[in-house]
Amino acid sequence: MKKFGQFFSTIFLIGLIGASGYFVYEQTLSPCDKPLEYSIGRFDTQFGVSKEDFKSYITQAGSVWEKVLHKKQFIYNPKASFKINLIYDEKQLTMMQKQKTEFGLSAVEDTFKKLDSEFSLFKTQYNQKVSFYESALAAYKSRKSAYDAEVAGWNSRGGAPKGIFESLEQERYYLNSEAQRLNNETSSINELTEELNTLLRERNTKAAEYNRVARDYNRKYNGGLEFNQAEYTGKGINIYQFSNKKDLILALTHELGHALSMDHVENPKSIMYYITGINAETSPVPTAEDLAELNKVCKI
Ligand SMILES: [Zn+2]
Repeated sequence: MKKFGQFFSTIFLIGLIGASGYFVYEQTLSPCDKPLEYSIGRFDTQFGVSKEDFKSYITQAGSVWEKVLHKKQFIYNPKASFKINLIYDEKQLTMMQKQKTEFGLSAVEDTFKKLDSEFSLFKTQYNQKVSFYESALAAYKSRKSAYDAEVAGWNSRGGAPKGIFESLEQERYYLNSEAQRLNNETSSINELTEELNTLLRERNTKAAEYNRVARDYNRKYNGGLEFNQAEYTGKGINIYQFSNKKDLILALTHELGHALSMDHVENPKSIMYYITGINAETSPVPTAEDLAELNKVCKI
């Protein structure tokens, strides 16, 4: 199955040749009379799916049809020649990248990422500066109130002896110069705050633009990508791409349907609709069209 029409004709032709090859055989035996034994073939780990999970997804996908047929139709056998492959294909990913570039999505994505990381870096430095300032300010305040208290104490006693007066004067000079430094720091932080806000605005404008382009892109490609997500080859099933677990299970269900000789049906909500991903939000549930097609090939 596929995400959108580009490769449809090729895939369909391959399907036709397979089907006519089976024609004589099918007249005497429905593809559902015998269980289909499968094994796992190529298993690329880049998707981050474990083999055990993959096997359980195949079981779940198969059970969608098995529930209707009321029998075990798909049986795992490590020696089976029918192979289900999970293929991480650089070519497909390159094609997806090319498509995003042609659409202008890559450019806006790159600019956004650049702005976003500039903003993050600036914000880190800014936060550090602010936190230095805040601890210096706290230290100044506590030293200042200690000074004030001591001065008030001596004043209430009519003044301080010469040595103490001089050390208090030194403290006063220090506090004044520290106050000056902190004031300068405040204006420099205020300038940085403005710069930070400008960067944030630019970043957010770009984010909005990115979201807009991405929305158009998704609309055009139907939330998916213009290449084969998965295919039934006659000798096995290849899975190339999926966005989440449900999407993967749907793809497997669709291809197992082909393995039972099912064809595409017209309802966009159907498992056997030629574009996948539309009903990936929910677990695959056969529509009336799916059931009619299953009935036709399996002669329930
Ligand atoms: Zn298909």
